[in-house]
Amino acid sequence: MFSTSITLQLLVHSKTLKGPFCPNLISAFFVVLNFMEPTTILAIILAIATLSYLFDQLLDYINLKAQRTDIPDEVASFYDREKYVAALRYHRELTNFSFLSSAFSFFLSALILLFGGFGWLDSLLRIYTDSEILLTLAFFGIIAMSSDIVTIPFQIYGTFVIEEKYGFNKTTIKTFISDKLKGYLLGVVIGAPLMALLIYLVQVIGPSFWIWFSIIAAGFIFFMNMFYTSLILPLFNKLTELPDGELKTAIEAFSRKVNFPLDNIFVIDGSKRSSKANAFFSGIGKKKKIVLYDTLIQKHTNDELVAVLAHEVGHFKKKHIVWGFVLSIIQVVFMLFVLSLMIYNENLSIALGGNQLSFPLNLIAFTILFAPISGITGLFMSMLSRKNEFEADAYARETYSGAALARALKTLSVDSLSNLYPHPLYVFFHYSHPPLLKRLHAIDRK
Ligand SMILES: [Zn+2]
Repeated sequence: MFSTSITLQLLVHSKTLKGPFCPNLISAFFVVLNFMEPTTILAIILAIATLSYLFDQLLDYINLKAQRTDIPDEVASFYDREKYVAALRYHRELTNFSFLSSAFSFFLSALILLFGGFGWLDSLLRIYTDSEILLTLAFFGIIAMSSDIVTIPFQIYGTFVIEEKYGFNKTTIKTFISDKLKGYLLGVVIGAPLMALLIYLVQVIGPSFWIWFSIIAAGFIFFMNMFYTSLILPLFNKLTELPDGELKTAIEAFSRKVNFPLDNIFVIDGSKRSSKANAFFSGIGKKKKIVLYDTLIQKHTNDELVAVLAHEVGHFKKKHIVWGFVLSIIQVVFMLFVLSLMIYNENLSIALGGNQLSFPLNLIAFTILFAPISGITGLFMSMLSRKNEFEADAYARETYSGAALARALKTLSVDSLSNLYPHPLYVFFHYSHPPLLKRLHAIDRK
């Protein structure tokens, strides 16, 4: 939940970030919802869910069809034939598996929506409590737990069968279970109080709650930016300082040159879960940190590692972190504003099978109705992110070495069996990082 918006990673691309932008027309639509019949609203909700499901599957499909068996010259010396064929198979297997798990989730959610399952749960819980806050917490607690339970077989198959088969998986059953428990714990400790506060403000302040909750959300995002690596990350991983040695000496020289404090560089035991390597930047101000995976250090030469570090420092120097923070706040504020146009609309609750105004039901309806907007903003955020990656690469080239960075990126790409020929449309919608060949070309240019 937190990591995508807070950290900038080197290689891994995440699917769309949540968020909004484009005021008047959008607000008009959400105001018009107030005058619609519940059946019309349900039809719109189902249509949005279906279209976005089909669109995602289509993108996956054309991306799979774009696979090519030839190895591009740029990475020919890094890949052996066998490894490359394995990479193609890995992608095919991942995509096919995602077709299956997405179909399962989609049909299950569609059935629940169609038969008023959410409304049924809401009415059931109302027998036990009058408090809208308690009701909302119980409602989302039950939804989160049950959706996790029904998808556990898919998570297990993904980690212990597919990732295992291609040699990536290092997660033990014990880590898998303790990750789950810690995830639940975080949901209770962080998610529940925020949710309770939101519902409290919705009830007490009325439609202008969004202004107050925006301030709280901004404070929360700021806090998470500051303390993600010191509070959340240590729950899941061990962070250690860079050990003495040649690497540290090399990094020391670089960090002095670009004036980036060395004591902000840490190593994380990523090898606890996966053999895949990564590096990321997190935090703002005094709390800024660059985190290198131990798996990255194992597989790269010192000058490649300094180049990776230079890339991360580039994100900091080019102010990507601060802008990311500002943009995520703008998105949240807009989202809360739109929520304020919908949260008191009784017809939304009835559309989902409820028999009175219910905040949790309206939150669910909001999530789906808002999805096209967050899809569009996600698109812009991905575009911005890809532009930032090019800038950080350029920074590494200027301050350290383009050749070393190119070697690091190739090794990373071979190791993680990343897709060399993703379909341009798939990249446009889903990639937060430009594909390898594009990055290599940009590094070579000039
Ligand atoms: Zn980056």
